[in-house]
Amino acid sequence: MRSKGQTTNGKGSHNTEREFGGTLGAVCIPIFLPLTVLFLICVSRSSDAALLQWPLPLPSLDHLWDPLAPVLLLGWIALHAFLYMLPFGKVSEGLVLRDGTRLKYPINGFHSLCISGALLMLLLMFKAPLGHLFELMLPLAICAIAISFLLSIYLYVCSFWAPPHALALGGNTGNPLYDFFIGRELNPRIGRFDLKYFCELRPGLIGWVVINFGMMMQEVELRGAPSLAMILVNSFQLLYVADALWNEEAVLTTMDIVHDGFGFMLVFGDLAWVPFTYSLQAAFLVKHPQALSPLGGASIIILNCIGYYIFRKSNSQKNQFRRNPKHPSVASLETIATATGKRLLVSGWWGLVRHPNYLGDLLMALAWSLPCGFSHLLPYFYVIYFTILLIHREARDERHCRTKYGLAWDTYCRRVPYRILPYIY
Ligand code: NDP
Repeated sequence: MRSKGQTTNGKGSHNTEREFGGTLGAVCIPIFLPLTVLFLICVSRSSDAALLQWPLPLPSLDHLWDPLAPVLLLGWIALHAFLYMLPFGKVSEGLVLRDGTRLKYPINGFHSLCISGALLMLLLMFKAPLGHLFELMLPLAICAIAISFLLSIYLYVCSFWAPPHALALGGNTGNPLYDFFIGRELNPRIGRFDLKYFCELRPGLIGWVVINFGMMMQEVELRGAPSLAMILVNSFQLLYVADALWNEEAVLTTMDIVHDGFGFMLVFGDLAWVPFTYSLQAAFLVKHPQALSPLGGASIIILNCIGYYIFRKSNSQKNQFRRNPKHPSVASLETIATATGKRLLVSGWWGLVRHPNYLGDLLMALAWSLPCGFSHLLPYFYVIYFTILLIHREARDERHCRTKYGLAWDTYCRRVPYRILPYIY
């Protein structure tokens, strides 16, 4: 996925390496991924929900547009921008930037989730037709895609006013198509409003569980009560989103915030891909109800709990270790030294495989698909896509770590030979 790029332009922050297939990827991905989102939504509501069907399940034009969609979407983003600015929760500092400074971030995403939940309950009390979100999925997705393009253009243009040290190391190749896609500026802000941090965990992620809830309401409208499968999908995914927002501070040390620029790849992922493809299981269940036995349901709950346990414990262990290696919960773990002064864990969760958090995440992804039965491939889209994403992400992270830690990373790989799945991968 990585190819050699161009030479530097003398601004000192150029990187010659390109990811995601270089220029070709940067041209193809912004065309094909939005079309994929729209295609998957159409498939999820077509009668046979087959990924391979001919003719394609194309919607009529009047299903593509609804004037309510831009109003709802812009209102939703504005609501979350407002909640972001409220003085709830603590303020945290990000990692040290190349100019030696640290940015401040409000840790109030969980508050935003709770307020969104309370507003939804209010709407329910006033009998708002939340199930109508099912009919609005395509127009909403089209608006989210349009907003992603507009925001990415804005970010690309504004990045030319940013000082060189504020540019992402990999996002300043000088090739406009690639830089637009991968993101030139690392932490674009309007005043103290951080656009990347805002988009990472708020409108799209919380929007995802709201769409799920809308699908459940549509099911209630159609069949009188929510199915066990729909309840499980809604609950598992709500747990995932609530966990991400409860542990919001941890996002400050992720690759997305620390390393990647804010360009089309992240903007589209946050605002369009996550809410409209991660909610496909719930959308699928509206038109394709599945009978799930209590035993089947219980087994899937156990699988989700195991996945969540591995995911949460491993992420917390590393976060704790990075924040305070002397903390009693991590002080006794075996580590190896690196030339940077930082140490790497080689026991505990991070001694099992090199990415135990990905393993837990993938087990949960499977548990989200299983309630949808085995008759269709569509509900398994997420787990298939996510496996590819995490394998690619693991390879990217591995390259970064090898560059950062050199020989110490090789030692870690020898001590912990498997990447994600013990004894297999
Ligand atoms: P990780 O949390 O896996 O972090 C990787 C970093 O951890 C490395 O760069 C390194 O950074 C540090 N590290 C690696 N090995 C060790 C070790 N042995 N000891 C100490 N530190 C180590 O990165 P991600 O951002 O990829 O994932 C975070 C979570 O988000 C995961 O659970 C993932 O599954 C999830 N995720 C979910 C997505 C979704 O769409 N649902 C998308 C992407 C991620 P350093 O040494 O510099 O600290």
